[in-house]
Amino acid sequence: MAIVELKSVSKRYGDKGANAVEGFDLRTLDGEFIVLVGPSGCGKTTTMRMIAGLELNTGGEILFDDEDVSSVPAKHRDIAMVFQSYALYPHMSVYDNMAFSLKLKKLDKAKIRQRVLEAAKILDIEHLLDRKPRALSGGQRQRVALGRAIVREPRVFLMDEPLSNLDARLRVEMRSEIVKLHRRLKVTTFYVTHDQVEAMTMGERIVVMRDGKIQQIGKPNELYDSPVNMFVAGFIGTPSMNFLKATRRGARIDGEGCGFAPAQALLDQVDEGEAVWVGVRPEHLRPTRAESGGSAGRLSGRVEVIEPLGAVTLVHLRVGETRITAQLEGRSQVEVDDELTLECDVEYLHLFDLEREHSLG
Ligand code: ATP
Repeated sequence: MAIVELKSVSKRYGDKGANAVEGFDLRTLDGEFIVLVGPSGCGKTTTMRMIAGLELNTGGEILFDDEDVSSVPAKHRDIAMVFQSYALYPHMSVYDNMAFSLKLKKLDKAKIRQRVLEAAKILDIEHLLDRKPRALSGGQRQRVALGRAIVREPRVFLMDEPLSNLDARLRVEMRSEIVKLHRRLKVTTFYVTHDQVEAMTMGERIVVMRDGKIQQIGKPNELYDSPVNMFVAGFIGTPSMNFLKATRRGARIDGEGCGFAPAQALLDQVDEGEAVWVGVRPEHLRPTRAESGGSAGRLSGRVEVIEPLGAVTLVHLRVGETRITAQLEGRSQVEVDDELTLECDVEYLHLFDLEREHSLG
């Protein structure tokens, strides 16, 4: 196990252009499960490769247990990696795939056998040890790839989109398998995904990245409840948060087809006549009668699309020029082209600066 620290770490490929990663600052706890999440190209893989030593950081420092490892080569960093492509050796049995790195380390045969069998038991693949990778399902191959990482008993696990080749059901299953595995082994883990549901369900802390820069680091609920800007607000949570443009007039913030009465502390962050973005999550909206009053937020519009998902119904409507989504409980009686009024409670309103898009509190 290890405390991994990245101090103002940057990476620039070549001499020109923007940094692929810039000013990355993070100190893990010992044995923590950190998820890096963000859209394609935001620098997740580059960050992982720098931690692994496969790519040199061009700025800052990387420390394992307070020791600078920036110039320690990958093979001496005591890290195990699991990738999207399982990269198993096709001509070797599962057993030999798992034993390979230990043989290279020249561990004695009995010790290798013990470690492989232990890992196989944890991952429930003992019955597959004699098979070749081609005779395994995708999920089984991914378990073997995990097994190959576990047997090395590394200080740090790096997992880069390890589940993206699996179908939806298997992904959910393997997600909880990896979380259970982590609870058992307690090895400091970095896990990359672009799937925010995976991030929310797996991460003890989540690092949200965009354009090479950290946007926010926090526990899943912190990111959901208190996003620092519209990017994080829109990225964390499905369906995404709705944003409506509105202007402060006295104690209210009103826009086309919508009106809000935020708590005083939030209202105080906005000047009279100032326009802001109001953020409301789809799951915090509920239908109300157009003429009833008293709620902190109300919006009205014409229903454009209805998606019944069984337990909930997604209703997409047009409020002024803005398309918004409401997630309603159960089966909705709403129909396309209905005029619908929705309301939400005061604690669920978010306000963002119009230009810089950062949270106003
Ligand atoms: P994805 O989710 O698509 O894998 P990512 O968040 O992992 O994306 P990176 O692969 O780290 O992003 O890429 C970050 C940026 O660095 C991108 O703009 C990418 O084009 C660039 N980049 C990555 N590898 C190299 C390289 N070897 N040479 C030059 N530029 C690179």
